Amino acid sequence: MVFDASAFPKDTLTVAYFSMEIGLEAAMPTYSGGLGILAGDSVKAAADLGLPVVAVTLLHRKGYLRQHLDCYGNQTESEAVWSPQDRLELMTPRVIVNIAGRKVEVQAWRYLVRGEFGHTVPVYFLDTALPVNAPYDQSLTDWLYGGDDCYRLSQQVVLGLGGVAMLRALGYQRVQSYHMNEGHSALLSLALFEEQAWGRSLSDVNGDATDAVQKRCVFTTHTPVPAGHDGFNFDLVRHVLGNERSDFLKRARCCTNGSLNMTTIALNFSRYINGVSMRHNEISRNMFPDHVIDAVTNGVHAGEWTSRPFKALYDRYVPEWRRDNLYLRYAISIPLQEILQAHAEAKRDLIAEVERRSGIRLDPAAMTIGIARRATAYKRSDLLFHDPDRLRAISRKIGPLQVLCAGKAHPRDGGGRDLIRRIFQAASDLADDVTVVYLEEYDMDLGRAMCSGVDIWLNTPQKPYEASGTSGMKAALNGVPSLSVLDGWWIEGHMEGVTGWSVDEDWHCASDSCNESQSLYDKLERIIVPMYYRQPGDFAKIMRSAISVNGSYFNAQRMVMQYLQNAYLRVGVS
Ligand SMILES: *Cc1c(COP(=O)(O)O)cnc(C)c1O
Repeated sequence: MVFDASAFPKDTLTVAYFSMEIGLEAAMPTYSGGLGILAGDSVKAAADLGLPVVAVTLLHRKGYLRQHLDCYGNQTESEAVWSPQDRLELMTPRVIVNIAGRKVEVQAWRYLVRGEFGHTVPVYFLDTALPVNAPYDQSLTDWLYGGDDCYRLSQQVVLGLGGVAMLRALGYQRVQSYHMNEGHSALLSLALFEEQAWGRSLSDVNGDATDAVQKRCVFTTHTPVPAGHDGFNFDLVRHVLGNERSDFLKRARCCTNGSLNMTTIALNFSRYINGVSMRHNEISRNMFPDHVIDAVTNGVHAGEWTSRPFKALYDRYVPEWRRDNLYLRYAISIPLQEILQAHAEAKRDLIAEVERRSGIRLDPAAMTIGIARRATAYKRSDLLFHDPDRLRAISRKIGPLQVLCAGKAHPRDGGGRDLIRRIFQAASDLADDVTVVYLEEYDMDLGRAMCSGVDIWLNTPQKPYEASGTSGMKAALNGVPSLSVLDGWWIEGHMEGVTGWSVDEDWHCASDSCNESQSLYDKLERIIVPMYYRQPGDFAKIMRSAISVNGSYFNAQRMVMQYLQNAYLRVGVS
């Protein structure tokens, strides 16, 4: 379905999508991982569907980080500077936000996301690098997830309060829904309260104002651990936000144990709240028992993440897939030989890309395992290397294995940095038997190449910390089956031996790395590697059903339609 945007009266159904990070293209380093990619895929799907959506984020002139790895896997970082003027259009309005008593001027740059049928969704990137601002304030839109708490809270003021002010200045007077993608933009609710107060003090706003604000806010939470939710010391909050706003948030019960919790603000002031998979929904309900929480499982943008050879294949067999991703269901009738051929092409492209980036030439005939994710402890990207001898034996006995890895660690994430070093150590231990390559600079382009060019996609997060996970969905769109721990989306997408395989059978118990690595090796040794080398037709069937069963469902088009039905347009949600 494509909506005719002109069918929506101009002012009545604008959805303003707020996100601290957004991944639109690899050349714009304004994302760090899944949260940002999801934001980008959501607006791309909204553009395809012709929906009246507008997105707001920060410019991040110095990006997230550029990653450098030495031969031991020690990570160093540099700035990922880019040129906004080459890709974005500067808007004329400027707005002012108050930060720690200073007036900070904000401008906005616009990026137009063009959908499959020409409808555009504007994304506004807020920018404080203006000469009128003090040097510190000019830097506020430089680094994604950089700086100290003061810097980050100030960024959230720019995003939430500055974002609403900028939308008004740009002519968006009546926004039907403000969608907060994670708690970073929760302060937008404060801007809505101030509008309700009509210039009077926030101490005068009443329950009616709360209803009015709630009516317009939608919140998606992504974090299954309490520690993952942004909290700011209340003294800092008072300093940055001032007395009136801080007191208001305190009265509205958004503070616990002397700190302001951004998730609590978002929970308290939203009419609709959701987690990002069925399992994450369950976890979130336990974490926030006072709130009604729904589930909308994530999806990825099919056009963005499908490789060239598979796009061509779908165009031939299910040409409707671009307009309506549900048609990927019928990929089940594509001849297996064609699936294998398209995959071989995607694998060739990946191998060429690996060689270009690293000088290492992988073997196109060897079964290739892909592991790429943010390097952080709970993702456990090193589980495959738990017992190098076992892995070596499988490769020798059954058929050659090679492993392709990528992922950046946040500069202050010691556990994540160690994880990369451990994989480098394992790579050197295994060098004579299993080629393990760790590529620098995991970004959207590398993600697309890896998810489509490897033979299986491995994901081994520690349960229950993977709220959803999306890279396995990208793999499914390219006929690459997953081998994954049952957590996040995979609990829903997994059908053993049909869409891929599970690591361990159990999804409700906490993770045990020993059991899980045993299960991982067992599946590789007894089922997956033998099938890959000896029953390629059976393996191809699994590739095909991954597309048909999972590609047709875990896409951003279905996800955005669910937001439309369950959140934006839902009747009966106050
Ligand atoms: C898809 C993607 C992610 C998120 O993948 P997960 O499986 O959710 O961890 C992170 N980074 C990049 C570059 C991606 O393409």
